[in-house]
Amino acid sequence: MKEAMSSGQKALFDQTIEHFKEIARQNRFAENAAVEHDRERCAVCHPGLVTLEPFLLYLEIVTQAVKERRPELDRELVEEINRDLDLRGLSFRVTLEELIAGEEEARACWAAWVRDALAAGLGLLSVHSPTSLDFDLDGGEASAWEEDIDSRVREIMAHQLRGCPSRKQER
Ligand SMILES: [Zn+2]
Repeated sequence: MKEAMSSGQKALFDQTIEHFKEIARQNRFAENAAVEHDRERCAVCHPGLVTLEPFLLYLEIVTQAVKERRPELDRELVEEINRDLDLRGLSFRVTLEELIAGEEEARACWAAWVRDALAAGLGLLSVHSPTSLDFDLDGGEASAWEEDIDSRVREIMAHQLRGCPSRKQER
């Protein structure tokens, strides 16, 4: 366990998160390496700038980016989940209604989609700059952080469910 961040580090951490949230909002995460920013104060370029485990720092950034980019459980997200199932050669399909109802198998597919989105985000951060770190969600270092990864997946799903348009209409 590393020591708590100083206020200076916290400011730098927040600034880094905001930078990547903005990139996600503009749908430019794939080209994040090319986006102009203050590299001296970027915690992805220089993970040593904050006293947080680099893996958790990167995980926080991709979590916020996914929430920013995909804030709600809507038909479009359902289509993406089904497209992923198709790509994996599976014939199973989910519906928005099942996801809202919390149907177990459908929710597992949704969770897999979220996990893939986090993995893709980490992959994109690894090419952020020559000094950014290379992480993935399977094996290696990530196995020590399984609980953190699961909790982030649940956090994103809860966020998307709160933003779900059909669910809002029901109220
Ligand atoms: Zn950077």
